[in-house]
Amino acid sequence: MKKAFIISTGTELLSGSTLDSNSVFLSRKLGELGIKVVGKSTVGDNREQISRAFIMGMESADTIISSGGLGPTFDDITKNVVCELMGCGLELREDEVKHLQEYFELRKRPMPEINLRQAMFPAQAIALKNSRGTAPGMYLKKNNKIIILLPGPPREMTGMYTEQAEPLIIKDFGLKPPDILTKNIKILGLSESQVEERLGDLTNMPECLTIALLAANGEIHIRLTAESDERDTNLKCLAEHGAKIIDRMGRHIFAFDDETLVSKVAGLLQRRDLKLAVAESCTGGLLSKMITELAGSSAYFWGGVVSYSNQSKQRILGIKEATLNKYGPVSSETAWEMAENIRNIAGSDLGLSITGIAGPGGGSAEKPVGLVYIGMAYNGGGDVKELRLGGGRDLIRIISAKSALDMLRRYIEYRL
Ligand code: AMP
Ligand code: MG
Repeated sequence: MKKAFIISTGTELLSGSTLDSNSVFLSRKLGELGIKVVGKSTVGDNREQISRAFIMGMESADTIISSGGLGPTFDDITKNVVCELMGCGLELREDEVKHLQEYFELRKRPMPEINLRQAMFPAQAIALKNSRGTAPGMYLKKNNKIIILLPGPPREMTGMYTEQAEPLIIKDFGLKPPDILTKNIKILGLSESQVEERLGDLTNMPECLTIALLAANGEIHIRLTAESDERDTNLKCLAEHGAKIIDRMGRHIFAFDDETLVSKVAGLLQRRDLKLAVAESCTGGLLSKMITELAGSSAYFWGGVVSYSNQSKQRILGIKEATLNKYGPVSSETAWEMAENIRNIAGSDLGLSITGIAGPGGGSAEKPVGLVYIGMAYNGGGDVKELRLGGGRDLIRIISAKSALDMLRRYIEYRL
């Protein structure tokens, strides 16, 4: 089994101001290839620390993969340190200079002289192209070791690893591309224990499969993994057992694999050519933010209103004073009027509203923190749902916004 050592460089990683997500990604990807990660080191932008980490990696692993420190400034020294250590000189590469020039031309900015450092490579190394930034990576095979240098920004690092480094590792180590098959079943509206209860005897997995339950931010994911050597067995196993689980979870499943709740809802709205408008109180715009995270959302999202005070509920949304006085702003009656009124104001097919008590203050015995009403209005009708959520303010707001989207999903998927 091949072994890998991961190095994360950056003083900001040591001080705690940036989370080292790169090494987590690399660990996972290397594991998928059947490469054992035997160690990790996080070091500052410091010659000795970086050098020590590479020496440690060289002693214990076949490949050393680092991220960070490939920028143009004085503190980006990973490439120089590695070349000193490996005893190879740096030469200017014309095609890399050209790539940098093009990058700056496209942005109508002059190229600073210091960026030329990024176009220097040892003769034996492969330069890894960076289509998302300026810093190219490096792939060097020397003394039976493979050294891979990747840029720090996660978007650049993951892209470069997946598109360029991984295929080279597979080739040089003579590995088979991973044959692991997974299915991720994503659920909303059930707690972890309810999911387990529903699974019942299905948690007794056939030998070919493993199951994992993950709970985060109100979602439960059932992750099935088939990793026998036989691809056909994996496919069959996953399909058969997966179908049984899907059947048990029914309408609580909102998506599979990489699909998210937002992309699922976006697809449904688009396919049915429906327009949505929202009115938010306790989520303060979170629902609108989630919806607009997807590019192209203007095709189905009219927009929304953040209506926090009673006055704004009356003036912007036209909620009746009598409703607010009699039932209060956090009530099924107010939620309903918010949804129906925003639908009328927008002239949209659907209106979605959220009003609730996110806490930590503002709760009472009758209306405790975590009480949330979601309203949904559509042509000819509507619905209000009452939620009683736990967790802190952040979680209550996140789950409220997701529950609103999930209510919409269920309506379009099963009742339209
Ligand atoms: P650098 O390649 O050192 O210029 O890194 C640029 C930026 O990438 C840093 O400011 C960090 O925000 C980010 N970054 C660097 N290393 C990591 C890491 N291990 N995990 C997540 N982000 C990182
Ligand atoms: Mg850095």
